[in-house]
Amino acid sequence: MNFKQSFKRTVNLGILRKKHTEVPDGLMKRCKVCKTAVFVEEARQNQDICPSCGNYFRMHARHRIEQVLDEGSFEEWDTDLEEKNPMGYRGYLEKLSGLREKTGLDEAVLTGKGRINGIPTAFGVCDSRFLMASMGEVVGEKITRAVERATKDRLPVIFFVCSGGARMQEGMTSLMQMAKTSAAIRRHSDAGLLYISVLTNPTTGGVTASFAMLGDIILAEPGALIGFAGPRVIEQTIGQKLPAGFQKSEFLLEHGFLDGIVERKEMKRTLHQLLRMHALPMERKECSSEKQIAELHKKLETVFARRKPEEGMEAWDHVSLARSAERPRSADFLALLFDGFTELHGDRCFRDDPSVIGGLAFFEGRPVTVIAQEKGHGTKENVKRNFGMVSPEGYRKAQRLMKQAEKFHRPVLFFVDTPGAFCGMEAEERGQGEAIARSLYDLSALKTPVFSLVIGEGGSGGALAFALADEVWMMEHAVYSILSPEGFASILWKDSSRAREAAKVMGMTADQLKKQGMVEEVIPEEVPLTLENLPKEIGRVREGIRLFLDTYGIFSDEELLKHRWERFRIM
Ligand SMILES: [Zn+2]
Repeated sequence: MNFKQSFKRTVNLGILRKKHTEVPDGLMKRCKVCKTAVFVEEARQNQDICPSCGNYFRMHARHRIEQVLDEGSFEEWDTDLEEKNPMGYRGYLEKLSGLREKTGLDEAVLTGKGRINGIPTAFGVCDSRFLMASMGEVVGEKITRAVERATKDRLPVIFFVCSGGARMQEGMTSLMQMAKTSAAIRRHSDAGLLYISVLTNPTTGGVTASFAMLGDIILAEPGALIGFAGPRVIEQTIGQKLPAGFQKSEFLLEHGFLDGIVERKEMKRTLHQLLRMHALPMERKECSSEKQIAELHKKLETVFARRKPEEGMEAWDHVSLARSAERPRSADFLALLFDGFTELHGDRCFRDDPSVIGGLAFFEGRPVTVIAQEKGHGTKENVKRNFGMVSPEGYRKAQRLMKQAEKFHRPVLFFVDTPGAFCGMEAEERGQGEAIARSLYDLSALKTPVFSLVIGEGGSGGALAFALADEVWMMEHAVYSILSPEGFASILWKDSSRAREAAKVMGMTADQLKKQGMVEEVIPEEVPLTLENLPKEIGRVREGIRLFLDTYGIFSDEELLKHRWERFRIM
């Protein structure tokens, strides 16, 4: 009897009539969320998602392989590791052999190699049916061997993780697997290779405190429970009920620990996109940088040739244009300049700061890291993005993404548009000064090309943390200054109403800054620059960035850093 026949037959028998009737073993299961009885096969055809409420069922390891890897591409590794019973725990080996029989798995993790839309990758997937996918010696060993082999064969690693934590029955041997797997991931990373972890329901305990949380990119399925201590343990310890949604994927994303939440239907496409973005490292060679840079700017003279300069414009008029609500924001530039922008979230520490958007994208087929200050359009989005005023966690997200760019030799492109770093109690508590300083420190030695474009307001140190770059360019009517003209007038003249006058003496326009050697290029723009005319204006920006990447993209690390140092040394 095939699935359709069995479906009809069961319906005829009336099993679906009531929600709380008996569920035949193996053929149907009950959704824990909506309590509907669901055909196992129907759910499986639907990527193990409840057809009635959308709840994600736990997925068997082999289903996961079918869902994510190209058909027939999986080659399994290390299927014959010997199970031990290091503490002589009574009945342990018998329990394991029972589970092996019941699940058809050797252990709680399957590892091997496969392809995602043709791109080869090492691949591992945990199965919660096997002692809640807890990590004992064999699990740790399989993970470690897979990572070692990937390091040797220069393959990326993707692990789909779920786990109850360390395997108690193996005592300290189990604890040591956390150290072993983490150390293996470190060696893989030091070889410049990509590791993506995908956290599924539930990922807890020692596994979150080791390989699960060490991905260059950490993704999760929606609604997955992810945490070090389980919710029941926390509730018992603190004697309180935890709020709804605590330790769920969405909570972790908001708190800066996940790059993104990906639905099952989008998983293969997302992983393929990320693998593609890491498959094309920049090619570099030694060359005479000064000569090449001079040639670059000669070419840019034509690209950025000005129509006639605006007559009678005062510095304050530039400030007004730069701040205008109609002016395109970073996200508008990004949408026109890049393909496949994949946003990555979080500082891995405290929060995902919405005033910074960062991620990976293709610029004319080249993988790049894009990091931008974003004010948003309209009051609601302005508030959500804190008017582009970045908090310490925003700078720390940027630092994380720049370090990642360096590891994979991807150029970093910054877009600056901020009134300044966020001034507030919380920002001070979390070290706003330290966060900005750290960005400057890291950028000064970042071994990959760094480009920065001021598109609107470049306010103080908050902007500079996105502009310690090989070159800094400005849109014609952007401004860049030590602080706002209002602040300047208020501090020096005790009268913030003299902002217009202040703007004049502050030397904050693109032309003035270019004369002073603070920025290399000024990109002409329509007055006023709007969402409507941006698509027409973006061609010049695109051509400029292409020429920048062609030039700086081939310099050696040594030359890049020397040039960047000298650029700021003369200031
Ligand atoms: Zn359901």
